[in-house]
Amino acid sequence: MKNKEHIEITGDNHFSSSIKTPLRADAFEKSDDEKIKSIAHHFEKIMQEMGLDLTDDSLSGTPYRVAKMYIKELFYGLNPINKPKLSTFENKYGYKKMLIEQNITIDSACEHHFLPIIGHAHVAYVPKNKVIGLSKINRLVDYYARRPQVQERLVLQILNDLQDVLETKDVIVSVTAKHLCVSSRGIKDQSSFTTTLEYGGCFTEIATRNEFLKVIAQQAI
Ligand SMILES: [Zn+2]
Repeated sequence: MKNKEHIEITGDNHFSSSIKTPLRADAFEKSDDEKIKSIAHHFEKIMQEMGLDLTDDSLSGTPYRVAKMYIKELFYGLNPINKPKLSTFENKYGYKKMLIEQNITIDSACEHHFLPIIGHAHVAYVPKNKVIGLSKINRLVDYYARRPQVQERLVLQILNDLQDVLETKDVIVSVTAKHLCVSSRGIKDQSSFTTTLEYGGCFTEIATRNEFLKVIAQQAI
């Protein structure tokens, strides 16, 4: 284990080393049920270590609930088997302007503290030959959000996948979110939030980017 000071610095700086989520080679050799059983066992130890009485009716089921929530809900996006199928269609109507999917819910967790990151994503692309179902964008965002994350990596992962399936670089992804590890601990800043913006192709032009930013500044319907 790295020394404690280094661990704290990494967490507070939200340092991330790679666009790929760091996963072990054997990450998915165990089944979900095996993982839930093992995590429940270890979480019970954590609770016991904190002095909690696990024989209490209210607490006895917590290790299992936490383990199931980690594997099936909060972090289901770690397992590639859960990745949404991103089927695309021919752009038959010849729509060649910007399509914006905005206010997509972000329910993520920071990988340094396992505390919630909550906010919204806004995604736009300018179709070439392929278009994608709108809800697929929401599903892709949710998939990448549901893993221990850093916000910079989240936008890059969404962007790269969309550029691949849409066969164009003309994609932009913006995420604005509140990090509970900033508001509830450490600096304890309740009001600040974080925006990350990543883009390619035509969105490298300021006018195109401004068009996107103007639309996402609108109030939700
Ligand atoms: Zn954090």
